[in-house]
Amino acid sequence: MGIKTVKFGGSSVADGIQLNKIKEIVEADSDRRYVVVSAPGKRYDGDNKITDLLFMCKAQADHNIPYRQLFQVITDRYSAIKYNLGIDADLDSRYDEILAELENGCSEDYIVSRGEYLSAVLVAAYLGYDFVDTKGLILFDSKGRLLAEETNKALSEELAKHECAVLPGFYGSDIKTGEIKILSRGGSDVTGSLVARAVNADVYENWTDVSGLLMADPRIVDNPKPIEYISYMELRELSYMGASVLHEEAVFPVRLANIPINIRNTNAPDDPGTVITTESTYENSKVLSGIAGKQPFTVITVYKNMMNKEVGFVRRTLAVLEDLGISFDHIPTGIDSLSVVIESAELEDHLDEVLQEFNSRLHPDEITVVPDIALIAVVGMGLSRSVGVAAKITAALADAGINIRMLNQGTSEINVILGVESADFKPAIRAIYAAFVD
Ligand code: ASP
Repeated sequence: MGIKTVKFGGSSVADGIQLNKIKEIVEADSDRRYVVVSAPGKRYDGDNKITDLLFMCKAQADHNIPYRQLFQVITDRYSAIKYNLGIDADLDSRYDEILAELENGCSEDYIVSRGEYLSAVLVAAYLGYDFVDTKGLILFDSKGRLLAEETNKALSEELAKHECAVLPGFYGSDIKTGEIKILSRGGSDVTGSLVARAVNADVYENWTDVSGLLMADPRIVDNPKPIEYISYMELRELSYMGASVLHEEAVFPVRLANIPINIRNTNAPDDPGTVITTESTYENSKVLSGIAGKQPFTVITVYKNMMNKEVGFVRRTLAVLEDLGISFDHIPTGIDSLSVVIESAELEDHLDEVLQEFNSRLHPDEITVVPDIALIAVVGMGLSRSVGVAAKITAALADAGINIRMLNQGTSEINVILGVESADFKPAIRAIYAAFVD
């Protein structure tokens, strides 16, 4: 028998109809033995996520605003699921306990974590699996940092005692005090990944409401093709550029253990979704995996004759940014010029200051500033293997009448980064997509 760790996101546990779907999914494959759940999410546009309501409840309690009505809205969501599906779980005593904690001034982390806790209690009872609390298993240090190795040990020891279990996502506890600590928003993805590593799963299935990743943003490209396989490295490049499907930190535990992640759709369980794997087990013959982009960026270019011979020039340029606490995204260089590409929001009111410091510390011949640049990442493991990729991209953009302001092949050789004017952002993505995908 194999082992699959499956994680269901907020929309997959939003109500009884969704819980029915996840029961069918789990029962369809006896390898699906470890289940991680989020708190119920939105059932329709304009609905509330339980986690958001719990944050509000705590804020109201802290400000002496009556919160019982809101608490009732939260518990009603769980009770409705329980009664609709006839689930035999004792929720009332748990509600009382949570309310008592709230009255006694419990921490925000505690109250917010109860969304996942109640969800896991319900799902465990519905599936007939053991409920295993992540308190005491997912461990944090006193600064709130996840202790990966301690967590792995505690989780694997505990889960070895359970053939099938449901665990709440999103939280764990302080290794010394035992106090509940939450992960960052969307953190149930991370819990799923930690569980997958701890049980040495064959695959980590992450069930959500989309059938995996698409090759481009559907708001820009009509009907983009789904990505069947992608490596962790490519995913990282695409996510950094704005394609979001998984919590960023969810990749590390499974990547370490060589476990693939399969993004699946609870509402279309027959769709294969996207498989994210390590580079070594990667099977993709395609040159291009995906295109993503972000804007606006500002490009500051410093020109100085004989710059390439001036020792320490790059260091002094970056020291200016460091001293002003500004992070940069790229630094394309030429022989006599260097550009820094910075997210415009990072610069905010600091542009004048940056220019002043560049002038006084670098003594440049000239500085130019180009605001409103969009960056586009063309990502694919096949890019480095194929001849003429850059030519294909530039030809596609030339045909579309788009001027390339910057072109940079990342040293990892799995991406080409392009800078175009913000107004050309969408047409550029469409042109590149059409050039590579038929
Ligand atoms: N419920 C939490 C959130 O809304 C965690 C999660 O769903 O992953 O962020």
